[in-house]
Amino acid sequence: MKHLVLIGGGHSHVAVLRAFGMAPPPDTRLTLICNVVHTPYSGMLPGLIAGHYRFEDAHIDLTPLSEFAKATFVNDTVIGLDPETRMVKRTGGPPNP
Ligand SMILES: Cc1cc2nc3c(=O)[nH]c(=O)nc-3n(C[C@H](O)[C@H](O)[C@H](O)COP(=O)(O)OP(=O)(O)OC[C@H]3O[C@@H](n4cnc5c(N)ncnc54)[C@H](O)[C@@H]3O)c2cc1C
Repeated sequence: MKHLVLIGGGHSHVAVLRAFGMAPPPDTRLTLICNVVHTPYSGMLPGLIAGHYRFEDAHIDLTPLSEFAKATFVNDTVIGLDPETRMVKRTGGPPNP
């Protein structure tokens, strides 16, 4: 089985998670590592700062989105990649979740 690790839960990977949830690829395990739980929708940030939107209007909660994608969500900061051993190093735990 392949293990796909997404680092960061921003705009790009939110779309990947959505696509995984709608059509899970076969034999693929998905992990999301992100240093935040709520990812901002950048286009709404000016409106958030101006007070037109609430926090929850302008942010995507990565926890339910990961559940939808059947991904393991790890709330942590990545500090390095080792291409030789194919390991992801993070601050809060052993390499690779
Ligand atoms: C104010 C503002 C308004 C914008 N408006 C628009 C718009 O209207 N239309 C448009 O097309 N684009 C807009 N953009 C640009 C758009 O936001 C970016 O192009 C887009 O966010 C890039 O997506 P990304 O997934 O590559 O990175 P990001 O969305 O920046 O995601 C990066 C993710 O990685 C996480 N991360 C970072 N470092 C680590 C680490 N070491 N370990 C773990 N996680 C980490 C971050 O928390 C984040 O979740 C705007 C940007 C800004 C700042």
